[in-house]
Amino acid sequence: MSPYTTSALKAELNERGWRLTPQRETILHVFQNLPKGKHLSAEDLYNLLQSEGESISLSTIYRTLKLMARLGILRELELAEGHKHYELNQPYPYHHHHLICVRCNKTIEFKSDSVLKIGNKTTRKEGYHLLDCQLTIHAICPACQRALLPM
Ligand SMILES: [Zn+2]
Ligand SMILES: [Zn+2]
Repeated sequence: MSPYTTSALKAELNERGWRLTPQRETILHVFQNLPKGKHLSAEDLYNLLQSEGESISLSTIYRTLKLMARLGILRELELAEGHKHYELNQPYPYHHHHLICVRCNKTIEFKSDSVLKIGNKTTRKEGYHLLDCQLTIHAICPACQRALLPM
């Protein structure tokens, strides 16, 4: 896995017959500047761009997010809310996994070398090229466990 700079993305897109349009570049920049631990849904991204005076239609955003996820540039996450969230697919040592509370959606990012090792080993064995490897743990956080206790 390699870090996604604008020029790397441009090269990757060109190689597959796509162009880095200004809209795609704008979307990439949002993800590059996202604070650690933040994940955006298509609607989040749409609202964020609107507030910055960028008018990119929701359908373009959906298509662009799907494309970038397919290319391994973005990660598509199934968080507890039921709709998809996205974040930059970052290489080691930023590569991380998610622990999600299914009741309040509190999400904790954690690192695990062993998960990445399994991903690397398995892909290499089968002759695949690793794009991403992530572990999502669905659980109930301490606060929600307390709330669930009988009175
Ligand atoms: Zn994350
Ligand atoms: Zn919770």
